Amino acid sequence: MSTLDSILEEINKAESIVILTHENPDGDAIGTGLALYNALKQIGKNPDIIIPEYPRIFEFLPGTDEIKKESDIKKYDLAISVDCATIKMLNGFSNYFEDAKVKVSIDHHSTNTMFGDYNYISPDAPACAQILLVVLEYFKIEITKDIGTCILAGIITDTGGFKYSGVTSETFKFVAELLEKGINVSKIYRRVLQTKTKANFELNRIATNRLEFFEDGKVAFTYITKEDEEKVNSESGDHEGIVETGRDIEGVEVSIFIRQTEKGCKVSMRSNEYVNVSDVCLLLGGGGHVHAAGATMQCTIEQAKEKILRQLKSVM
Ligand code: AMP
Ligand code: MN
Ligand code: MN
Repeated sequence: MSTLDSILEEINKAESIVILTHENPDGDAIGTGLALYNALKQIGKNPDIIIPEYPRIFEFLPGTDEIKKESDIKKYDLAISVDCATIKMLNGFSNYFEDAKVKVSIDHHSTNTMFGDYNYISPDAPACAQILLVVLEYFKIEITKDIGTCILAGIITDTGGFKYSGVTSETFKFVAELLEKGINVSKIYRRVLQTKTKANFELNRIATNRLEFFEDGKVAFTYITKEDEEKVNSESGDHEGIVETGRDIEGVEVSIFIRQTEKGCKVSMRSNEYVNVSDVCLLLGGGGHVHAAGATMQCTIEQAKEKILRQLKSVM
């Protein structure tokens, strides 16, 4: 029996199901989670989706008003984690996963630690949402407008608007099908990617002013502090996209962005061509994809900067 057959069997058997994703969820995490939520409802299941906090730009996605912050159910029959590389990244809600009778991980991170009983991992997929598309087709669940919208939001965010190298012909076939179904792809694109909150714009301005170059202009580095976020009344997700500014500058191979958090430093790393930032971030205790990765470091911004630049020196 294939992994997907086993997962479908577990879904059919389960009376209580919970869908979870990584902390500080992005469009792929929320889009995939909600797509799965809507799909399971469609086949007569009554799942919970627990996401304590998420950016308000995603509030238009079908199912957001049913997202829970926590649950009274302590032991679910089945827990499904999407777009999450490690159990640690489930953060404060990992108990719902760990305590569930059966655990499933659906993901596209090459560094996924296979923390489920069943793991359906496709590192080549440009977004977890695109894997879910394959999964739902295998389960013979119809991709309705609602489900399609959620999947599209995930794909658009994780591919930077269809422009990253992981995009496949399936990505565009799916978008073509959505257009045929009458979904306003352009409008969703603008909402999830193009439109910036005011706080996001202000944080970007601060980070751009601070941007420094290293390694003959091949490395771009910037950061924002907790004070910066307080000053601009930052909300969940307002730091998204800042790391892209450095990557888009001519000659830059690696862009580094540090966000100061309660826990220390949240590092975001992006590369254009030859540097595998996932490998670099693994050495820093994190992980991710070849061209987009991250790590959490318990130290000051200065200490993190020095350590990262030292690691990068050997691969530039
Ligand atoms: P970010 O810079 O936070 O957008 O993360 C880039 C990619 O790396 C995303 O796909 C994350 O899920 C992944 N990632 C970030 N931090 C970690 C970590 N500590 N461990 C594993 N994967 C991570
Ligand atoms: Mn994600
Ligand atoms: Mn993703």
